[in-house]
Amino acid sequence: MEAGIKTLKMAVIGDPIDHSMSPFMHSCIIEEHGIDAVYLPFKVTGDETGIFNDAAKYLGFSGYNATMPHKVNLVDLVDEIDEEAAVYGAVNTVRIRDGKAKGFNTDARGLIAALNRRDADIKGSDIMIIGAGGAAGSIVRGFDRAGAASITVLNRTVSKAETLASSIGSGRSMLLNNENLSEAASSADIIVNCTPMGMSGMAQDFEDLSFLDDTRALVCDLIYNPWETRFLSEAEKRGLKTMNGLDMLIFQGILAFEIFTDITLDKNAEFEMLYPLCRDKLNK
Ligand code: NAP
Repeated sequence: MEAGIKTLKMAVIGDPIDHSMSPFMHSCIIEEHGIDAVYLPFKVTGDETGIFNDAAKYLGFSGYNATMPHKVNLVDLVDEIDEEAAVYGAVNTVRIRDGKAKGFNTDARGLIAALNRRDADIKGSDIMIIGAGGAAGSIVRGFDRAGAASITVLNRTVSKAETLASSIGSGRSMLLNNENLSEAASSADIIVNCTPMGMSGMAQDFEDLSFLDDTRALVCDLIYNPWETRFLSEAEKRGLKTMNGLDMLIFQGILAFEIFTDITLDKNAEFEMLYPLCRDKLNK
């Protein structure tokens, strides 16, 4: 479709941004529904968040996604903030209307939708979270709001796990070591790796995954590159159900698209359309 003055303009900003799946994913939705819209990636450094936000408002963008390193910066830069994003202290989706930017966060809702699709319910579940960075922060608080029975946060820097766990009612924190991994895993219904350990291009990986012998949990990794981390392949070898990060990525993207356009999508149908396309693109 030829772009014109009324074409909806959307974007994703980050640094690095080269490998973002968001332009592909949003373009698939745009094409599927024949919407007059474009979605572009922009490399924007951490000290340019405000410049981009002002430019997007001036140029009449409908909204934009933000990834590393902008999510925290945006909390103070947007004109208004959704209550959920304020609680998480991070913005990954900005909607622009009448020159005003409003910040949202779709990360936790994306993961919860992905888990629900796999018949896993957060309500009443015992959760084990590995990592206490930005993604873990949204997920822990989102799972708490969704009614998790307990959430155990394990982190290399235990003080960060303590701060995060104490920000919710049902949290406890532990230092990331083999003994604690086994103890937390033994009672967990869902385990989520929220660290980059095992990600392509990252030298560090889990040293010991024997804690997976002690659990019957659904095992999730936020990573989708590589398609199957050692963490997930070891879980699968033990007969555990697994989910990589693509499911969450797709659902958080669908939610963001709805926020940008005010169009309500059939999220599960959209997921079924996007999943094979994104999987094939990633595995090319
Ligand atoms: P972040 O804020 O930098 O946090 C990283 C976390 O990982 C921290 O808790 C850090 O521990 C821990 N960590 C890093 N290297 C480690 C190592 N070698 N050993 C042990 N722990 C280590 O990152 P983030 O934004 O939360 O992202 C985390 C992961 O989630 C990334 O792989 C990212 O790509 C992925 N992600 C995926 C999606 C999706 O849609 N699928 C969405 C968001 C994020 P310390 O506190 O001790 O430094």
